[in-house]
Amino acid sequence: MKVAIVGYGTAGQATAILLSEQGHDVTVFERSPTLGPVGAGFLLQPTGLGVLARMGLAGRAAAIGQRIDELHGTTLRGRRVMAMRYADRRPGCHGVGMTRGALFEMLRTAHAGAAQVRTGTKIVDYDDRTHTLTDAQGESHGPFDLVVAADGAHSALRAACGTQVRRERLYPWGAVWCLLRIDDWPSPTHLLQRYAGTRSMIGMLPVGTRPGHDGRWVTFYYSLPGETVSRFDDAGVAALKMQVATIWPELEAHVAHLDRAEALHKARYRDVVLARPRHGRMVVVGDAAHAMSPQLGQGVNMALLDAMALSDALVARQNLDEALDTYVRVRHRHVRMYQRMSRWLTPLFQSDHAALGWCRDLLFDPVARLPGARRPMSSILTGELLLPSDAVAGRERADVDAVIP
Ligand SMILES: Cc1cc2nc3c(=O)[nH]c(=O)nc-3n(C[C@H](O)[C@H](O)[C@H](O)COP(=O)(O)OP(=O)(O)OC[C@H]3O[C@@H](n4cnc5c(N)ncnc54)[C@H](O)[C@@H]3O)c2cc1C
Repeated sequence: MKVAIVGYGTAGQATAILLSEQGHDVTVFERSPTLGPVGAGFLLQPTGLGVLARMGLAGRAAAIGQRIDELHGTTLRGRRVMAMRYADRRPGCHGVGMTRGALFEMLRTAHAGAAQVRTGTKIVDYDDRTHTLTDAQGESHGPFDLVVAADGAHSALRAACGTQVRRERLYPWGAVWCLLRIDDWPSPTHLLQRYAGTRSMIGMLPVGTRPGHDGRWVTFYYSLPGETVSRFDDAGVAALKMQVATIWPELEAHVAHLDRAEALHKARYRDVVLARPRHGRMVVVGDAAHAMSPQLGQGVNMALLDAMALSDALVARQNLDEALDTYVRVRHRHVRMYQRMSRWLTPLFQSDHAALGWCRDLLFDPVARLPGARRPMSSILTGELLLPSDAVAGRERADVDAVIP
């Protein structure tokens, strides 16, 4: 088939690799003039690692990233709020912290057609009668047998799904992020978070190596109301450093060098729900289909799962219409569950509702320790809750656990 992929983020890269390997004639359009990652670091879950294992990349991910065994959150006074261990899911289970740059470069290297990506081409429309795409200069591309919209949370193409867009909202909170070089970080296998009510949260996620740099790196993130993120400036950096000194004094020295707002990435999140992530011969994947708050750390993993499910559906069904229906069906329950959970859980960590913070601090950890609660809780963390048993996690898990020490 002639396939167009719009967007060269994780969803677009993974889809391009898998569909090119199947022999399809793939053209990728990317609006940025140069290829490169945006953002700091993220957590790869066993689900995403399973997809990388299928691509033969799990060992490489382990080598350049940082194995993560536990998510550990405490209050300002040191009270434990959560201690979610991957091993509670099954022995040997873990995540991998990675820099955006490391994942991007790894996928770009694995994509034989990376040099042919049409950069600087912003696609603005899809015509479902002619099966063509139109770019911002008015040039028409195609026709294509299949169009994959992987153009991220602010997707222009999902509007082509018309009434299928059920929800598209900006979250009232966001965060600022940066990478810190810390070679001797004392908790290299833990994602640590510290909460001061629901208005302040700091996270430290070890992410291993960074392309083009020496040493070991940790992603630092700091939660802020949305408008504060939007107007974050040098004065905001000074205020942030004062907050860090109060909430997590041990970090003070690590952020002392930050003095310009440009040193931090600003992030606002969207909540996007599509009734059906397809329209004619166009299918919507990744954040374009299901952007959510990153509280559960699933977006990159979801993008990888989408790419895998789409390529599997195209192999299983010769008829394109049936293949796209199969894709939609296979991903539906898993995507819906994580969309709901991230919408419900985010206010516990980022909101103006102080009472939610008290409840969280009082109840979260005792509930997670109830008999029978550990495994389901850990399946939320690993991204495997409601994942169809024939999907990647089940089939590839053994491979992943064997590959990663
Ligand atoms: C602060 C923050 C922290 C996060 N932490 C985690 C985490 O720990 N774990 C996790 O799994 N996920 C995390 N996520 C979510 C994750 O970053 C996203 O879910 C993931 O990057 C989505 O990938 P994508 O390819 O769908 O979209 P994107 O990465 O946004 O890629 C979209 C691509 O499309 C291009 N594009 C956009 N519009 C057009 C157009 N019109 N024409 C052509 N090209 C276009 C863009 O330039 C971009 O390259 C986090 C997100 C944020 C904001």
